[in-house]
Amino acid sequence: MLFAEDRTLRRRSDPPDALPAHMNAALEAIPTLPDALSGLTRIAMNLAWSWNRDAAELFERIDPMLWTQVRHDPVALLMRIDEATLRRCADDEEFVELYENVERSVEATENDEGTWFAREHGGVADGPVAYFCAEFAVHDSIPIYSGGLGILAGDHVKSASDLGIPMVGVGLLYSHGYFDQRFDDEGWQLQQDEVFDPERLPLRRLHPEDSGLASVEVEGRTVQLGAWCMRVGRTPLYLLDSDLDDNDPADRILTGRLYESGEELRLKQEWILGVGGVRVLDALDVRPSVWHANEGHAAFMMVERARRAVEAGSTFDAALPDIRASSVFTTHTPVPAGHDNFSAEQVERVLGPVWEPLGLDRDAFMRIGYAPETGEDRFHMTATAIRMARGVNGVSEKHGRVTREIWSELWGDRPKEDVPIGSVTNGVHRWTWMAPEVQRFLDGVLGEWWTHRVEEREVWDRVLDADDAEVWYLHERMKYKRHRFLIEEARRRWRAVWGKHRHLVASGPLLDPEVLTLGFARRFATYKRADLFFRDEERLLELITDAQRPVQLIFAGKAHPADDLGKGVLQRVYRMSHDPRSEGRIAFVQDYEMHVARALFAGVDVWINVPRVPKEASGTSGMKAALNLVPQLGTLDGWWDEGYDGENGWAIPAAPKPDDPDEHDWEQLFRLLEEEVVPSYYDRNENDVPVAWVKRMKRALWVAGRTFHTDRMLRDYCRRYYLPAWEASTEGDDPPTR
Ligand SMILES: *Cc1c(COP(=O)(O)O)cnc(C)c1O
Repeated sequence: MLFAEDRTLRRRSDPPDALPAHMNAALEAIPTLPDALSGLTRIAMNLAWSWNRDAAELFERIDPMLWTQVRHDPVALLMRIDEATLRRCADDEEFVELYENVERSVEATENDEGTWFAREHGGVADGPVAYFCAEFAVHDSIPIYSGGLGILAGDHVKSASDLGIPMVGVGLLYSHGYFDQRFDDEGWQLQQDEVFDPERLPLRRLHPEDSGLASVEVEGRTVQLGAWCMRVGRTPLYLLDSDLDDNDPADRILTGRLYESGEELRLKQEWILGVGGVRVLDALDVRPSVWHANEGHAAFMMVERARRAVEAGSTFDAALPDIRASSVFTTHTPVPAGHDNFSAEQVERVLGPVWEPLGLDRDAFMRIGYAPETGEDRFHMTATAIRMARGVNGVSEKHGRVTREIWSELWGDRPKEDVPIGSVTNGVHRWTWMAPEVQRFLDGVLGEWWTHRVEEREVWDRVLDADDAEVWYLHERMKYKRHRFLIEEARRRWRAVWGKHRHLVASGPLLDPEVLTLGFARRFATYKRADLFFRDEERLLELITDAQRPVQLIFAGKAHPADDLGKGVLQRVYRMSHDPRSEGRIAFVQDYEMHVARALFAGVDVWINVPRVPKEASGTSGMKAALNLVPQLGTLDGWWDEGYDGENGWAIPAAPKPDDPDEHDWEQLFRLLEEEVVPSYYDRNENDVPVAWVKRMKRALWVAGRTFHTDRMLRDYCRRYYLPAWEASTEGDDPPTR
């Protein structure tokens, strides 16, 4: 049923009708829907529901308990609901009205009419943008992301959908998920797989049960690849899967886990993503005109397109200008460990003589991936992507400058300013990250139609005039509600491990919504410096346990399974959260995932972001906090370097000794907290409203709402990178000389 319905809604970027309709087991298990609610399955199968204000309420109203149990996955909900409940819903007029609203708006995302792209650039695109990324965070129920890169990619495809930019996403389906976080008694992080069954998720299987749509060669074996389609509004996202009966057991697990340690497995995964991705699109008859590699993991996509050109009679060198003209590459970190590179020996052993079908010899192939930093014997994914894409960008203005410096050698002795690497500052998807309460509040402040006018920057000016007391009471209500959620999470976990650990697993239950609350949540990479707080424990304890003006800290975040240094920092936080001297004023929240993140952005007073400059390419969590009226305190790195305007938060000034900034940054962090943040928060007027503080909150929302969102980001990508590629102009191409 669903499939037939779907067919009438095919878009250019969709797979052809000729493909067999493989029905997910899950969909067969959904009971017959009453006529009045016949579109529920279709709503559930398009992730557009997840950024529709009313949809979560709709599903929750069907069965609130079950909705929590199934982790807000509507497909799982519908599979387990009984017909009587559905009939009751169909008889409830209010419910049906809500349903019809949601249905209309989800349906509207299934054609292009009236979108920004149709209005501004309709007719320009012949084929879609193919956006490749190793991870996508679209919704909590599909845990195939580890952090910032995945969140950004998910937000990217959502905004492409909102704006009507023709796009398909390509990624991997990690059926073992990204791990659940556990701790031993010593506070050392343990990882537990979070296995899920794709058949029970809003994914449509495009391949037959046991064999693939396309294949790649790995270690001389043929690995069949299947693909699942996740519909993200207008954007189909194709997730490759090697877990097929036809494959060797060793190959079935290749797409099983995200960022598994071990170079060789990474190499195989990246080969599957890049080469397999191009071939699967081919098999689906999707013909992109623009190819965007989001981070170096996807660079083999460009190599595969060169191979196809050579197969069709060209040479590598002759094909390169066209490949460059239609390729975009975004780099996301200046940290060397974030850039994969593989030895020549490894490449040959795992992938075989891949240079042969390119018409190259081994040395010529290795030169494509040569990076000065890693030397001649390594194939560097970022260097490859830079050589094979004309459009190359960093993710903030500052990161653009840093990236030009890092890679200027590829252009010979060119002055760094002239290196043709640009920047598009990251953003966040407003409808995913702005709490429903804030959205409703803005209905009142900006006028009902504001969601249709968000692009007009002046619309946001009224935020600055919003009533201080109203803003403050809204914030207090949100904070209280999110604290309840975090406390309940801690209670649930405590119950689950009671008997093994007699102490509270996190000190969440001691959270107090009245107290100035600082939020610090991110991956526990050492350069992000969660431990800056603990440089002088006495000073920290004095700050947080002050009798009149206390402060509490909420931490969250996972360390990479192979990052022992990061785990050490995490352990330090974990121990401090259990240390009685901190009087319960430090909380650690486990499993920093999208739903926990949303609770944090809307449940704290200040967002803390103190990376060691210039290691943070952009950072996006502070933008999400700001959309929820939470100002950031941070070092002037990544987006904050351009986003901080003196009134929307606090900034730690640049360290005089950039190579050894920790002491300076720590001193400034505490100075700001002690002298500015704490006094300002507790300075209340006769109605108990901190007026100067609220001004900063409004300013934070004003800045982020106008600029630091993915609609702006996508329009930047469109204008600077996608349109020139669609117009197939090779003008101004300035390839590396080395
Ligand atoms: C936003 C987000 C991130 C990335 O935040 P950064 O500021 O870039 O570190 C990571 N994980 C989750 C769950 C997020 O929501």
